[in-house]
Amino acid sequence: MSNKAGFLNLSIANILSDEQSMLTQARIRLLFYGLWVVFACVGAVFLSVLYSHEGALVAMSGGILVTVVMLFKYLTWKGDWKLVAHILLVMGTLLNLADAFIIFQKIDIISIQLVLLIIIFSFYMLGQNWGLLYSLANLSPVLMFMVYTYNNIYIINIRPVHLDQFTLILCVLANFVVMVFIHNHFYNAFLKNILELKRTSEEQTRLNETLEVAIDKAEKSSHAKSEFLSTMSHEIRTPLNAVIGMSNLLMMGNPRKDQEENLEILKFSANNLLAIVNDVLDFNKIESGKVVFENIRLDLPELLNNICGGQIIKANEKGLVFKLKIDDVLRNKTLIGDPTRITQIIFNLVSNAIKFTRQGFVEVKASCQEQREDQVTVRFSVRDSGIGIEQDNLKAIFEPFTQESITTTRKYGGTGLGLAIVKRLLELKGIQMQVTSKPGQGSEFWFDMVLPLINEVAQEPVVAKVKAVSAEEQEMSDLHILVAEDNMVNTMLMKKFFSKWHVRSTFAENGERAVEMMSYGNFDIVLMDLQMPVLNGFDAAMEIRKMADHQKAAVPIIALTASALTDIREKVFSAGMNDYVAKPFKPDELKEKILKLVHHRSARRHQPVE
Ligand code: ADP
Repeated sequence: MSNKAGFLNLSIANILSDEQSMLTQARIRLLFYGLWVVFACVGAVFLSVLYSHEGALVAMSGGILVTVVMLFKYLTWKGDWKLVAHILLVMGTLLNLADAFIIFQKIDIISIQLVLLIIIFSFYMLGQNWGLLYSLANLSPVLMFMVYTYNNIYIINIRPVHLDQFTLILCVLANFVVMVFIHNHFYNAFLKNILELKRTSEEQTRLNETLEVAIDKAEKSSHAKSEFLSTMSHEIRTPLNAVIGMSNLLMMGNPRKDQEENLEILKFSANNLLAIVNDVLDFNKIESGKVVFENIRLDLPELLNNICGGQIIKANEKGLVFKLKIDDVLRNKTLIGDPTRITQIIFNLVSNAIKFTRQGFVEVKASCQEQREDQVTVRFSVRDSGIGIEQDNLKAIFEPFTQESITTTRKYGGTGLGLAIVKRLLELKGIQMQVTSKPGQGSEFWFDMVLPLINEVAQEPVVAKVKAVSAEEQEMSDLHILVAEDNMVNTMLMKKFFSKWHVRSTFAENGERAVEMMSYGNFDIVLMDLQMPVLNGFDAAMEIRKMADHQKAAVPIIALTASALTDIREKVFSAGMNDYVAKPFKPDELKEKILKLVHHRSARRHQPVE
């Protein structure tokens, strides 16, 4: 700014800039023009005293004149208005003191005007703190002096110089003009400041409105995206359900060796496709904040055994050693947690470990880090001796759709979503995923999870389990199930499963038909597809719940849905249904849910009436 201007350039433009606030600009202008006025006044005094040969006054006014010129040059050269203001105030204060104690030795209207000027000037120029300081510095000696003169005690005995009436009037006038100028000048600056603030706030309101519209638009589009994804998933899952189910059935029917291989490939690809669809859906669900952790009982060793069960076979097929280590302290303990999410996390990590390891081992470990009376901190870790990951890529692999390198997709397949899902799931619980890895040597993924503890020991004898299985089959064969399903392929698939379980089943092609059949038939349980023509599953369930026959109205209903909408659970329950199974359904899961509900109902029926 000013530094660029030449030494002889005295323009105010050198020291003003648009970045300065209105107030700062006003201060600089006041100093600039104020110094000009002081220069003109003191110059006139200097000339008059020079003419009248008053030696001391010539020296004094000459000194002040030189100082004013220097300050003016300094201001226009460096732009340091604060320093100039301080120098002027110090000079004013000294003048005030000299006036009171040395030169005139009295407090008259001029002294009071000077003090007033200093007070106003210091507050406007330098703000509250400096204003207070300079005010005190000028007020205290004046007041002290007045107190002393009141008692007629003179401290310094110098003859006062005579001050004529004309000079007095001129001084008062000059002071008033300066005060009016200062007030007017700063009033304008404050007004401009307020207008500027108003303009900024209007601008901000306008921006906020634009932002709100943009947020609204983004929310709508994100909602549309998630709706689109769930509809698509329904469309993709329904045929996948048939493909996987049919290949399962064909495998059960003793196929020829060559057929079996083809079926394996078919099943593998369909399962792969399903996994990708599920990954995209899961990620979508987590991103839109619709995933919550459940808090239900879980038996950690059993859960880990189940997760690793299928994976051990995969590892062995690749010639890898699979180790599962669970701390003894964690056995025989009932913990509270979300088995579905824990399964999802560990399953992803173990799948990756097996996928990216050609030889050596994969180790899954659950160790107790801390045990308290009501909770345990469990460290879950998945270690492998696989290809490892470069240090620089350890962060990036947790980003969605990111793999370590482009060759990864070619060699190993995958979508790059697994770790992004794992990371986000853990973040929902405030847990940080940790990873250590060395290229060529292997990787370890681990995290600590706090799980509340229920203090009880619940163990089922093995014999009882075996017995339960055969009792289960017996129980299934006694059931009569009503299935409401409009899709031919699904109907065929279910019929085949039911015949394997020896279950009696009746099929209704839409919701209305199901309600009708329910009213004249006797069924132990209803499996209800949700999207059906004529009457959908929700409405059909509500019709059944309204039936006059209490037994029929209370029949257990399981919804069958390929929808991935996160609120499907609530919708199903609020329509009066008891549970739901996602399609493509796992036969064991469906069987388990059917038996659970049937048990529950018969237990209630046999409860003694009080
Ligand atoms: P995907 O497995 O579908 O590629 P992930 O998000 O699960 O996607 O993993 C992202 C990337 O992280 C993988 O592509 C791979 O490069 C790297 N990665 C994950 N787990 C391992 C592991 N155990 N060993 C080596 N690299 C791994």
